[in-house]
Amino acid sequence: MTKVLVCPVCKSTDVELDAGGVSGKYYCKKCGYVGSFVLEMTEGEFEEMLKMEKESMEHDENK
Ligand SMILES: [Zn+2]
Repeated sequence: MTKVLVCPVCKSTDVELDAGGVSGKYYCKKCGYVGSFVLEMTEGEFEEMLKMEKESMEHDENK
């Protein structure tokens, strides 16, 4: 299973270790988030999360 790093702010997988991993922090190329905390999950879990977010969003629209 391939593991992906996911930004906790915008849920993008465009996350990489900042400064070659020297600072031990992660950098999100999409929203500019920098921090030591990112979500790490398998591709399957990531797809599952996106699906659930989409469903909850659709649910909100029905209010
Ligand atoms: Zn982000």
